[in-house]
Amino acid sequence: MNGGDRKKLAEAVEKGPQREREHRVLVLTNTYAPHKVVTWDRAITMIYTDKVEVVEDTGEVIYRGKDGHVVHMPSVVRLKKAPPRMKRAVKFSRMNVFTRDQFACCYCGRPKKMSELNYDHVVPREQGGKTVWENIVSACYPCNSAKANRTPEQAGMRLLRRPVRPHQLPMMGPRFDPREIDESWVPWVRDYFIREHVA
Ligand SMILES: [Zn+2]
Repeated sequence: MNGGDRKKLAEAVEKGPQREREHRVLVLTNTYAPHKVVTWDRAITMIYTDKVEVVEDTGEVIYRGKDGHVVHMPSVVRLKKAPPRMKRAVKFSRMNVFTRDQFACCYCGRPKKMSELNYDHVVPREQGGKTVWENIVSACYPCNSAKANRTPEQAGMRLLRRPVRPHQLPMMGPRFDPREIDESWVPWVRDYFIREHVA
């Protein structure tokens, strides 16, 4: 696309109907994991600054150049490079511990809502346990209080998996409510749906 076309496309985007203003585009990481959701005009900018490539479009023509160049409305795009924040270490936080543990208790294995999970020191602080990735697990309140200030061995409980420091969170990226997403996104975000937990 040449400079003139680019300018005309920018104008077409500027004048786009209000209905289309609300059209959102799913941005995938370079490894096809959901990254974020942007407005369609932002997605167009990302396409023409070569940051992303189009994975899916709606088929709707939003610009037709004199040379026959046609631009379709994108619905899913993919970053050409890894997003910068994924190269950094995963921040230690309550939310990220729950995410690493896939919102399930590490003692009974039951999936839980965030409000039903607690942060458990495997080796209790009283016994020198630190607040680090390798010593913190997600636990439901019943398991957490059954364990009390003891190690799993002392409490006669089994830790389902050793806590580790994650290099990358398994479910990093936005969470999606299946009722509110575009149909074309489904194949890309189905593992990222907000889980409706049953205790
Ligand atoms: Zn539990």
